[in-house]
Amino acid sequence: MTHSAQPVASLFIDGAPVEGEGPALPVLYPYTGRQIALLHEASANQVALACEAAARAQPAWAAMAPADRGRVLSRAAAIIRDRNEELSHLETLDTGKPIQETRVADWASGAAALEYFGGLAATVTGQMIPLGRDWAYTRREALGVCAGIGAWNYPSQIACWKAAPALAMGNAMVFKPSEETPLGALKLAEILIEAGAPPGIFNVVQGGGQVGAALVTDPKVAKVSLTGSVPTGRRVYAAAADGMRHVTMELGGKSPLIVFDDASLDDAVGAAILANFYSSGQICSNGTRVFLQRGIAERFLARLAQRLATIRIGDPLDPDTQFGPIINPTQAARIRAAIAAGQDAGARLVCGGGGEGAFIPPTVFADATDDMAIARDEIFGPVMTTLTFADETEAVARANATGFGLAAGVFTQDLTRAHRVVAALEAGTCWINAYNLTPVEMPFGGVKMSGLGRENSAAAIEHYSQLKTVYVGMGAVEAPY
Ligand code: NDP
Repeated sequence: MTHSAQPVASLFIDGAPVEGEGPALPVLYPYTGRQIALLHEASANQVALACEAAARAQPAWAAMAPADRGRVLSRAAAIIRDRNEELSHLETLDTGKPIQETRVADWASGAAALEYFGGLAATVTGQMIPLGRDWAYTRREALGVCAGIGAWNYPSQIACWKAAPALAMGNAMVFKPSEETPLGALKLAEILIEAGAPPGIFNVVQGGGQVGAALVTDPKVAKVSLTGSVPTGRRVYAAAADGMRHVTMELGGKSPLIVFDDASLDDAVGAAILANFYSSGQICSNGTRVFLQRGIAERFLARLAQRLATIRIGDPLDPDTQFGPIINPTQAARIRAAIAAGQDAGARLVCGGGGEGAFIPPTVFADATDDMAIARDEIFGPVMTTLTFADETEAVARANATGFGLAAGVFTQDLTRAHRVVAALEAGTCWINAYNLTPVEMPFGGVKMSGLGRENSAAAIEHYSQLKTVYVGMGAVEAPY
């Protein structure tokens, strides 16, 4: 298979590929560091043109029968499933993630979102409110033009997770992928047109933070949905506030995974692996603070190290590879610095370490304390920090002692404790005896600094629509004078 991934053009505006007028944007394959495509960023004028195209197309799209809009999304999902192999190959080139993962996790979950919201579109109804003689009703209406801005870890999934509910509700979208991974969103734009979406309903602009900032403040934009880090989220939220725009913020985390000593050891170890090393650890909801009850701690660490020793690290396009490179050298350097800081602070390196070049092996720290940087800051790499605790009250208090609140997990065989603990955890998405499973049927999102709004499930509908209330007078109007 080829390593070239040059698209027809860098942007997609008003139903057609358009070349960017901004600076060059080379796209590198993280495994080799070689250029696989050369794109150009959107100019400020092109960002405005994309928003205008979206604004022009949106009213007619919103006026269509919801079932007809839904059918377009369902067709797009079917096209994605048919082309999953080709799309997954491209996703691997764009992100460096193993083809073993991209085949099952990326476009597949994007297709699931398009199917889900395609089906849901026709089921969204208002409410009839009886008021005696008079009555009122509500209509759930589109917001207008939505801006989507994505991170680089799940570029195509993020594009689909934002586009599917937005389009289902009759909005149009202008999407800016991360400049690190610009290719998947262009495919989604083509596929939506092929599936019957009118031109202008889904547009793609490319570029870095400046292009994102121009998009967020475009006067045509009514809503901004960002997946990114907390610092970017803060900036984007503030910029959106100026125009009273709606926001969804899917931001970072430092999520706790609490393992009680009655847990099934192998299941807890398996979940901790999924919670830290899938996609080379570049996942927002990762359970990077693993709290181990003292009775299970050493057995857990021994089993974990044993299982991690079997991991196959290497060429992402080799179907046997389980663990790929980090997205870029800058990010790899940041992760190495975080690992070095953990060692300097006195945490015990159970396995892993800095690695070489683009690769950082699965790294596990033990004997960490809550005040160490490795236990406080989001590393966004394959670094698990384990901490020990004595009892439930302590575990919950320490798990919550963070500004983040994206996700959390608990492993125990004690049914009542499991539910009591998740009820007490300050996190938007929790798992009991599981971790990092995010089916489209369930709401996903964070609390505290990890964000607001929810993606997926029927809950996402509320974040891509607004309520109109209509009072219906059925008789004479009684005025006092
Ligand atoms: P960043 O916050 O660096 O960037 C996110 C996106 O925002 C990128 O497209 C970026 O552009 C863009 N951007 C940057 N500055 C601005 C601005 N001022 N205005 C508008 N857009 C801007 O995140 P990363 O791409 O590095 O992704 C990693 C982060 O994302 C982690 O913190 C991770 O936890 C979080 N994340 C959260 C998820 C969730 O669902 N909660 C899921 C996945 C990741 P560019 O980078 O191209 O310059």
